[in-house]
Amino acid sequence: MANTHATSNGPANGPDAQGMSDAGFAERVRDAIDRRELSLVFQPQADVVTNRLTGFEALSRWRLSDGTMLPPDVFVPMAEQGEAIHLLGEWTLRTACAAAVGWLQAGYPDIPVSVNLSARQLDDPGLVLKLLGILSETGLPAANLKLELTETSMFSQSAEAREALLQLRGAGIRLVLDDFGTGWSSLSTLRRVPVEALKIDKQFVQAMVEDRDAAAIVQAVVALAHALNLGVVAEGVETPEQRLYLQAYRCDMLQGYWLSRPLTADGLSDFLAERSVIGTLLTMSTGSAAGPQTAG
Ligand code: C2E
Ligand code: CA
Ligand code: CA
Repeated sequence: MANTHATSNGPANGPDAQGMSDAGFAERVRDAIDRRELSLVFQPQADVVTNRLTGFEALSRWRLSDGTMLPPDVFVPMAEQGEAIHLLGEWTLRTACAAAVGWLQAGYPDIPVSVNLSARQLDDPGLVLKLLGILSETGLPAANLKLELTETSMFSQSAEAREALLQLRGAGIRLVLDDFGTGWSSLSTLRRVPVEALKIDKQFVQAMVEDRDAAAIVQAVVALAHALNLGVVAEGVETPEQRLYLQAYRCDMLQGYWLSRPLTADGLSDFLAERSVIGTLLTMSTGSAAGPQTAG
């Protein structure tokens, strides 16, 4: 697998390309979970104007026993070729929900966790029950869980998958459309899927300052989202200039290295502690409820 990482361009290389069977890869994922090779990091999202924290996105990491890091761009598509995605997906959901319960218990009630859901996970007829089970086992309120779905999973899915999304939404779990603009969108389907927000892919956000077309796309997506009464999140925000553009375009939320890189559990505690100290100082000195500006 480390080889795959060095030589592949990503998604095209499935378990077959490694000469590893689907069952073999699922077994490998099971092992990785048992041996704690898998972990989650969490990247904060914040309000573009006030910088108030609005949640964390959980991102999977796989460290092989020799220390090699496999990026999710490599192992998620491999897992998606077979049953392994269900193991990986369930582990991710359970681990992310448990982490979010920790934030609740630490006194941060309004910080939902966002988890990426692969389109393939929607093929599982047991998904809804599994998810409700994870919420009740961990004790996480449904409203503190957001699922990030890609356009493809929203638009190319069966009636059963769409029904599953409606049931999840009905149970109070929140849905976000990820990587908006990179897949094949059907604007008419957008009216029928129960998402609360669109996430603008980082390729547009990062090109926006230099490229008028990218800027036009970002503005158009913000306008579209707001016209449909949806929130809008920009991902991959790296510079203060990009944040200013997003503010001018009235984008609601941002995520990216400008705010913070994805954090380990320890890094996340420090991040929260630092922000609440600075937040308290700011409130005392200005009477403002706005959060701190943590760059980095
Ligand atoms: P994504 O959902 O679009 O996640 C955003 C990616 O952008 C993450 O890459 C994040 O680390 C990276 N990123 C965040 N801020 C910045 C920035 O300012 N600049 C740049 N250049 N990059 C930034 P990551 O963690 O490597 O994940 C890649 C993709 O793998 C994710 O893209 C997502 O599609 C998938 N993925 C990650 N974890 C999971 C998982 O647990 N389940 C599933 N199904 N997919 C996952
Ligand atoms: Ca995502
Ligand atoms: Ca993306």
